[in-house]
Amino acid sequence: MHYSNTTLSPIPGPVTAAMLRLDLLHPEVSGNKWFKLKYNLAAAAAALSPVHIVTFGGAYSNHIAATAVACKEAGYRCTGIIRGERPPVPGHTLQQAQAHGMMLEYVSRETYKTYTQGGFQREGAWVIPEGGHNSYGARGCEEILSILPTADFTHIMCAVGTGTTLAGLINSALPHQQIIGIPVLKGAQYLENEITKLLHPGARPPWQLLHNFHGGGYAKTSPALIDFINTFYKETGIPTDIIYTGKLVMAFHELSRQRYFQDTSKVLLIHTGGLQGNLSLPSGVLSL
Ligand SMILES: *Cc1c(COP(=O)(O)O)cnc(C)c1O
Repeated sequence: MHYSNTTLSPIPGPVTAAMLRLDLLHPEVSGNKWFKLKYNLAAAAAALSPVHIVTFGGAYSNHIAATAVACKEAGYRCTGIIRGERPPVPGHTLQQAQAHGMMLEYVSRETYKTYTQGGFQREGAWVIPEGGHNSYGARGCEEILSILPTADFTHIMCAVGTGTTLAGLINSALPHQQIIGIPVLKGAQYLENEITKLLHPGARPPWQLLHNFHGGGYAKTSPALIDFINTFYKETGIPTDIIYTGKLVMAFHELSRQRYFQDTSKVLLIHTGGLQGNLSLPSGVLSL
């Protein structure tokens, strides 16, 4: 993977801001998922030959989509354990994953829960947790801020699912930078603890999660969100997704409106990709 496609796109408005476009990294391996997989795949390759990767996700999982492509490119066998019954017609994400050679195994929600809480083993396979949530995942995300010059920014904002990406950002940010995570899940107060577990010991930049921008909860959309994504695209040319990055930019706009930032603030928003998720919307809803 080379990072030459990535850019910093300015965001017009009263607060100086730019977006780090990890969505441009690769046509299929969405933004942050590449970084979370990097050291997980390296560890698997060091431990196993031939490599067989097993990981977990739901029917719309960006992590499943990215793992399928990354394994195909590396020539690794891979299996996706999918939450819920096999759908009569698999959606876009699963169809693509299968087309890239991922073997899919559907399990009930109960079994999935047991599996993802540590009750899963498979002989001869390297298991990557759901969402790439482990210290290898965080380690890869420590490289995000050095792709382009980002030292000038005073604030770094990122959407949060498992918090792995945010942990990598906190571990690699400079002491003068404030890290703000926007959880896209409702009632995700456990995240502070999960993120802390992945942090290096010692001094670190200030960080916090702002828990009121989930817009109703995971994958919940609203006409206001759809409008916002369409308008933001018209004004900036930057496409965002309904689950993560749309909510992140909406949170940034709301905070700007509330004068959360100062005149001297320079805000970096991390575009973590995820645009493949929009393909599960009926066509015409988004005008991206
Ligand atoms: C998976 C994903 C996230 C969440 O990353 P975590 O490391 O799990 O917090 C954010 N944005 C996009 C687009 C994603 O696909």
